[in-house]
Amino acid sequence: MTSYANLLKPLHLGFTTIKNRVVMGSMHTGLEDRFYNYPKLAAYFEERAKGGVGLIVTGGISPNRQGWLAPAGGTMNSLFDVPQHRLVTHAVHKHGSKILMQILHAGRYGYQPFVVSSTAIKSPISPFKPRQLSEKNILSTIEDYAQCADIAKKAGYDGVEIMGSEGYLINQFLSSHVNQRTDRWGGDIENRMRFPVEIVKAIRAKVGEKFIICFRLSLLDLVHDGNTMQEVVIVAKALEKAGVTLLNTGIGWHEARVPTIVTSVPRAAFVDYTAHVKQHISIPIIASNRINMPETAEEILATGKADMVQMARPLLADAFWVNKTATNRVDEINTCIACNQACLDHAFKNKRVSCLVNPRAGHETELVYLKTKQPKRIAVVGGGVAGMSAATVAASRGHAVTLFEATSDVGGQFNFAKVVPGKEEFHETIRYFKVQLEKTGVDVRLNTRVNREQLEREGFGEVIVATGVIPRALKIEGSNAPQVLSYAQVLKGAEVGQKVAVIGAGGIGFDVSEFLLKPPHQPQPQPLAEWQREWGVDPDPNYISEGGMQPPVVELPVRQIYLLQRKTTPLGIGLGKTSGWVHRAQLKKHGVRMLRGVQYKAVTDEGLWIEHNGQDQLLRVDTIVVCAGQESVKDLMPKEGESTIANYYIIGGAKLAAELDAKRAIKEGAELAARL
Ligand code: NAP
Ligand code: SF4
Repeated sequence: MTSYANLLKPLHLGFTTIKNRVVMGSMHTGLEDRFYNYPKLAAYFEERAKGGVGLIVTGGISPNRQGWLAPAGGTMNSLFDVPQHRLVTHAVHKHGSKILMQILHAGRYGYQPFVVSSTAIKSPISPFKPRQLSEKNILSTIEDYAQCADIAKKAGYDGVEIMGSEGYLINQFLSSHVNQRTDRWGGDIENRMRFPVEIVKAIRAKVGEKFIICFRLSLLDLVHDGNTMQEVVIVAKALEKAGVTLLNTGIGWHEARVPTIVTSVPRAAFVDYTAHVKQHISIPIIASNRINMPETAEEILATGKADMVQMARPLLADAFWVNKTATNRVDEINTCIACNQACLDHAFKNKRVSCLVNPRAGHETELVYLKTKQPKRIAVVGGGVAGMSAATVAASRGHAVTLFEATSDVGGQFNFAKVVPGKEEFHETIRYFKVQLEKTGVDVRLNTRVNREQLEREGFGEVIVATGVIPRALKIEGSNAPQVLSYAQVLKGAEVGQKVAVIGAGGIGFDVSEFLLKPPHQPQPQPLAEWQREWGVDPDPNYISEGGMQPPVVELPVRQIYLLQRKTTPLGIGLGKTSGWVHRAQLKKHGVRMLRGVQYKAVTDEGLWIEHNGQDQLLRVDTIVVCAGQESVKDLMPKEGESTIANYYIIGGAKLAAELDAKRAIKEGAELAARL
């Protein structure tokens, strides 16, 4: 018996049984839009089924052309769609998991010219103004949902999930934020919920009783004129009556300006809203958002707050999450750090979804770690994430690997990231790699700086140079003064004054600014109540505020900060699509002054002299923190033409500092190790 008894308990639905309480939530991978990608999609889902997940929900498939998220998006409206989907359902069923196809009509969120909605009001996140659906169009759309579910059944799915949250079409009917109709589809909640209720009834009539209908309901809209909890409960009860088998939950519309999934959102932040709805219905309910580790998931179930837990990104990060939990190997889980960099940021750029910490995600047929038939002696120099990725993959394939790290610990740049407020999850990646280094038998030599002679003398035939980066120094008059610090010094705890200029507004400039806004602290997650106050989220699970929003309360920052860059583009424009706005909002709320088009002139005892808008200006600051990017450390690499005994390879920041990026570093390490 493991300590995760609730998580691993089967869920009996009468006509079928789900083998445990873990749902892999819907995540659009980009593979579902083209029939020729379905073998890859099947392999992606099969790996998760093999990993033990109870129930999988596919990425969103539209019931018709108007519902496309993007031009020619995945659609199911003909029997010709059946064979490709059969590949997916067959692959999942082989391993005893169940799978639902998500039906998603994007409504006004569609990034295409045929968009429709309850009312012709443009969304802030798509340039296309929707056409208002007429009574006739509404009825035919309901019929399209039913037909889509019927075809899904023929393709072997165990059921469908109707996407009714995150601000898509159904939400656009459910909430007055968009729905301004005066006919029987608009007005009070009884009318606004008519559209989803009729969809459920039409599907149930078509597919019969022995087919799962899951409905993903928005529990907290987080937009103005959003529903109250009383309205959410009315809808939940009506959906149950109409024939829903499972109620899934969604938090926040995509256009909401409150973060709901990024790494700074506390774990399980929204589960109390799920617990509230659970009291009013008798069908099983699924908790979602920022659940990434078994302890959190088990606690939700053990305390009766939900019947199942949904994770999408954590199962991209580790396909074997459930099996590792079931066999008491939780320390081996590759934890999703909620960075969004390779999943949602890719999805929003129409790129195939993958995972920063697991580059195999979405590439299961292409990045394969086969056992080697010719074991080699491999030296990996540098214990950052690039080096650890290369070392662990190479060792897992059967090579004899030694990892040399010059400092007293592995982790590299992640050791800086994990102390930034809201980035505490990054320590999980270091923990994961440390456990993998041990399990795969890598010989780790800390406090060991090596040169080529030593490596070759020890007989290494392959040397992977992952020596990383050093922070770029500022080269202006006075920049050697003691009040000029690198970001590395600051994040390691150097003393910083009350007034600060941060030079460089890349990811690290933003991180350092956030770090300096708060008093010195132990790196630990922000308490939920404080986070709710800061972002204006109503903490009352039975909230009466519209969309669950309240005026935010921002604590005074402990420092006055200038964030500076030379470029004239808006600051933070290069940050991740789905997380950059959160960082920009945080700094703005805390009064950080952001200046662009700045030239740095000199550091004096008075502060930092800059030229801005054609004028010399003195910023009277006590400390200047340099976040001006990095330079590669690659002394170990042989020069071109230089003869060596071993083969040398270079990866990560050592290879290219200009785009120092953990996603590329981990991927390069894994890809190289898969080839050796
Ligand atoms: P970066 O993104 O390259 O930003 C460094 C900034 O410093 C540049 O935007 C540049 O802006 C400025 N700069 C460059 N050379 C300079 C010089 N000689 N003097 C003064 N300013 C100079 O690098 P980073 O912030 O160190 O981040 C490194 C990588 O870490 C990023 O690429 C990102 O992938 C990752 N990261 C991301 C996040 C996130 O998304 N939240 C957080 C942390 C790290 P100007 O030339 O315009 O001044
Ligand atoms: Fe999680 Fe980041 Fe991987 Fe996305 S890319 S699944 S957020 S770790």
